[in-house]
Amino acid sequence: MKDMNQCPICGGSNFERREVTETFEYKGQSLEYPNYVVYACGSCGEEIVDSKCLKESDRKIRDFYRQVDGLLTL
Ligand SMILES: [Zn+2]
Repeated sequence: MKDMNQCPICGGSNFERREVTETFEYKGQSLEYPNYVVYACGSCGEEIVDSKCLKESDRKIRDFYRQVDGLLTL
């Protein structure tokens, strides 16, 4: 497995793994997603979401969307 410590945008090595709480909004409802893993570049400011985290959050976000749609159609 390759370590992600170099920015693919500017090539800088100032690339840091960060865990943040990301907030997603959908139709006026919001979902707080803790431990959202992003890599942030200290040189150019680029932020890239960890691919594994993206897959996991994608599932939860879809559930959230369904839940919101369910609330609105009841
Ligand atoms: Zn960069």
